[in-house]
Amino acid sequence: MKVYEKAPAKINLSLDVLRKRSDGYHEVEMIMTMVDLADRLEMEELPRDTIIISSQAGYIPLDEKNLAFQAAKLIKERYSVKKGVYIHLDKRIPVAAGLAGGSSDAAAALRGLNRLWNLNISVEELQKLGEELGSDVPFCVKGGTAIARGRGERLEMISSPPQCWVILVKPPINVSTADVYGRLSVDKIRNRPSTEALLESIRTGNFHALCKSLGNVLEDVTMELHPEVRHLKETMLRLGADGALMSGSGPTVFGLVQRESKLARIYNGLRGFCKEVHAVRLLTGTS
Ligand code: ATP
Repeated sequence: MKVYEKAPAKINLSLDVLRKRSDGYHEVEMIMTMVDLADRLEMEELPRDTIIISSQAGYIPLDEKNLAFQAAKLIKERYSVKKGVYIHLDKRIPVAAGLAGGSSDAAAALRGLNRLWNLNISVEELQKLGEELGSDVPFCVKGGTAIARGRGERLEMISSPPQCWVILVKPPINVSTADVYGRLSVDKIRNRPSTEALLESIRTGNFHALCKSLGNVLEDVTMELHPEVRHLKETMLRLGADGALMSGSGPTVFGLVQRESKLARIYNGLRGFCKEVHAVRLLTGTS
């Protein structure tokens, strides 16, 4: 018996950090949505009580450090499943990119194993399990578009943004999420995103207002460390994107365009100096 799951990448349309909490985490407020760039997971039951992960991507851990492995281990323990599983990860989301690839793989593993082993776990319960694996996992379990608060785990689902093209560009640099948050001085933040304005633009389906309201307070920190991220965002806008923003703690920058006729120019312009460029649609449920 085999099951298959898609694990889509997330982008942040906004990311605001409200304060540093006494537990060391940051209190965030962010609007997240999913794009049609996804890893594929194939899960096959094994009679032996073991978890095996394989992937064509040579650059991710395949042992207990892999988030899909951790998801399988957690669900097996919590629901006393004595069977094993072989998970093949067809990795297409750039790694350590600010696109929550690992979190989405963990969420897809939770959904898939729930089906493979007929566990009948509710989505809410899967989200609770996911919270133990990472703050972005509960969002990835359900997908869609949401405003996330707390550490990112407190979710309120909202309507989908107006459909558009998303061009993602990932420069060949590594950014540590912990390092970026560590360097952020919350009291020195300039340019906070207007979450309210962004919500209003989504509610009314106003694409151009949405593009104007994009904002991420981590941009300045990552761009200071890696000026090429700022350069990519400027290039994206110069080539004709209607809006552009760094996702998560970076380094991926995404651009939004509604008119397909603009796509090729932006895509080719970026490909000129960056290998990892993707042009995809938003996952709005209507596309
Ligand atoms: P986030 O936006 O949630 O910070 P990210 O997109 O920046 O996530 P990931 O692609 O999730 O980062 O990878 C972060 C680290 O997690 C990598 O360095 C990798 O070693 C590890 N990792 C564990 N499991 C996975 C997985 N299934 N896919 C990718 N990376 C994984």
